[in-house]
Amino acid sequence: MQNIRELVEVIRSNPQIYHLRVGDHLPDGSIVDQDEDAKIPAPTTNYVKMIAAGQSVMEYAPTPVLQVVSKNMALEGSTGGNNHTNMIHFTNLRVCDGSGDVMLARLSMQIAHDGDKLKEGDIIQLNLFTPLTYPPSGGGGSHHRMPAVVVHTYTKIGYSALPKELNPPMHCITMTQDEVDECVRNESQNLRGGEGGDDDEDDQYERLVEVECTAQNRCCSLYGISQVVCVCESDPVDKIDLEMVRRYCHFATTDVSKMKDGWKRNMLYWWYMTNIYNICGKDNRKEPPACLTAAIRKKYPEPNGLYKRYVPKKKSRN
Ligand SMILES: [Zn+2]
Repeated sequence: MQNIRELVEVIRSNPQIYHLRVGDHLPDGSIVDQDEDAKIPAPTTNYVKMIAAGQSVMEYAPTPVLQVVSKNMALEGSTGGNNHTNMIHFTNLRVCDGSGDVMLARLSMQIAHDGDKLKEGDIIQLNLFTPLTYPPSGGGGSHHRMPAVVVHTYTKIGYSALPKELNPPMHCITMTQDEVDECVRNESQNLRGGEGGDDDEDDQYERLVEVECTAQNRCCSLYGISQVVCVCESDPVDKIDLEMVRRYCHFATTDVSKMKDGWKRNMLYWWYMTNIYNICGKDNRKEPPACLTAAIRKKYPEPNGLYKRYVPKKKSRN
């Protein structure tokens, strides 16, 4: 009986090899009926549209189902250098939702190789992921951002032929120049941190504060995201390739080699806040979690030990 169960499991979890048809006899004596298809959830409808519109997809579909349209694994990292330790494999998928809309699904570096085994038509359910929008040119002045999702964990749940027609790539609701400026200004405020100004006060600066991020006190579970493991462990600052971040980071205009540590810290705050918490944009700047702030400051310390304190944006300004 054990063997039969395993065989059924193999067949059910490899439907692209064992095409089950209605009326097929399964080894356990049962017959495939219409329900067999129904057990694979259909791709989530309207999902890409909602990300493009900046709507709250986490409430709409906490574990969305998407279908793989194509796949590309590439070695990315610093270009032209001879430091190969900076090169990282990334797998980028094009996925479609149940409405035929297509977007980029960028797999986190730690699942790039696993994701490389995915095939066209595979249906995946995202478990841990971050919806975001990105400028397709990888930075610069473009504000025709596109919807995307950074996937940290997923489950392959089935396979079916792709829909005959897919919609053309979708751009986000265009940000106005004001909104783009606001987004950049929020971060450039940070960039000036530590450089000094004429109204400096002592309480604008703080020292590195070590925090313990434990299961009982998970300080990086913030802004609607629950972290089972501390983000500093699941996505360590050490493993983040600044050259890769720089390509995505719209306010990073200097070569990493010429960046001061303050810039690097801000780029990393941006990277985590955008990727993990999906926070960037007008009136949407938030303080990074304490564990992350400490980890980033430790990695790129300020020589005088003083760091610009996070100051919430005052609503009344402008
Ligand atoms: Zn943490």
